[in-house]
Amino acid sequence: MAELRVGFCGLGTMGAAMAANVARAGFELTVWNRTPGKADAAVAAGAVEALGPAAVGSASDIAVICVSDTPDVEAVLFGAGDSGEGGLAAGMREGSLVIDCSTIAPGATRAFAARMAEQGVAFVDAPVSGGSEGAQKGTLSIMVGGAQADVDRARPVLQAMGSTITHMGPVGAGQTTKAVNQVILSGVYLGVAEGMVLAMKSGLDPRQVAEALQGGAAGSWVLQNRAGRMIDDDYPLGFKIALHLKDLTIALEQAREVGAALPIAAMAAQIESALVARGHGEDDNSALARAIREWSGL
Ligand code: NAP
Repeated sequence: MAELRVGFCGLGTMGAAMAANVARAGFELTVWNRTPGKADAAVAAGAVEALGPAAVGSASDIAVICVSDTPDVEAVLFGAGDSGEGGLAAGMREGSLVIDCSTIAPGATRAFAARMAEQGVAFVDAPVSGGSEGAQKGTLSIMVGGAQADVDRARPVLQAMGSTITHMGPVGAGQTTKAVNQVILSGVYLGVAEGMVLAMKSGLDPRQVAEALQGGAAGSWVLQNRAGRMIDDDYPLGFKIALHLKDLTIALEQAREVGAALPIAAMAAQIESALVARGHGEDDNSALARAIREWSGL
C-alpha cells in the first residue's frame, strides 16, 4: 500500500484520529489543518504536514476531507474566498480521487463532484458514524456514495478508518444515508435523556437502570456510551451539539424536498437551537439532557 499517496485535510476531533489510522495502515500520508498545531497525532504515526490544501492535493493520489460543514468542504476543495490560496483542486492531478468524510448536504456534494469531474478528478462522499471513539479505534461505519470503480479505489483507505463500509448508491447517497442516521440518533438521544431523568426523579439508581436496560430492547450506543454523562450532568466533548444541529438542518431540508414528516427530528432541532443560543453549542450532543433535566427541575 505504500505506493498509494494519501492526503488528509481537517484534523479535528474525527479527522486527527482517522488520519493517524490511515498513516498506521502504511499509506504515505500528507496532512493539513487550517489552524496549525493539530497534526501531532498524525505526524507521530508517520504523516508529513503540508502548508495548505493545494500542497496536499499535489502530494496525493487520494485526498480525504473531514471538516465541519458544506461551505467548509467548498473552501478546502476550491480555495478560501479572497485569500487567493488554492484548494485541493488546485493541486490534484487528473485521475486522482477525493473522499469527503465530512457530513454535508447531498445536493452540494453532487455539485462539488461535478466541478471536480471537470478537471478529471473523481469524488466519493463517505460520511462516518461511530463517534470519536469509533474514529480512534478505526471502527467507524462509513456510508459511501459514488461510482463503483471510485468506491473500489477508495475502499483500502476507508478500511483503515472504519469496519463497516457500505456502498449506498451514486454520489450523494452516502450523505443522504447519514441524514437518516442523524434523524434516528436525535430520537435516541432524547429518549435516553428522558429515561435517565425519569429514573433519577423516581429515586432509582440511574446507572443501574442503564445497565439493566442495555441488554434489552431499549439498549443502544447512546444508552451505553452517553447515559453516564447525562446522569453526571457533565458533557465532555465527543460530538458538538452545533454539528448535530447542522446535520438535522440537512435532514429536515431533505425531508421537505421529498415530502417526509419528521416531528421528532424537528423538535430535537428546536431544543438544540435553544441550547446553542444559550452558549452550549460546543458541548457534547448528550447535553440535550440539559434541557430535559432543567424542565424536570433537576
Ligand atoms: P471538529 O472537531 O469541530 O473539527 C472540525 C474540523 O474542520 C477542524 O479540523 C477545522 O479546522 C476544520 N474546518 C472547519 N471549517 C473549515 C474551513 N472553512 N476550512 C478548513 N478547515 C475547516 O469536528 P469533528 O467532530 O471532527 O467533525 C468533523 C465532521 O465529521 C463534521 O462534518 C461532523 O458532522 C462529522 N462527524 C463528527 C462525529 C463526532 O462524533 N465528532 C461523528 C460523525 C461525523 P480548525 O482546527 O482550523 O478549526
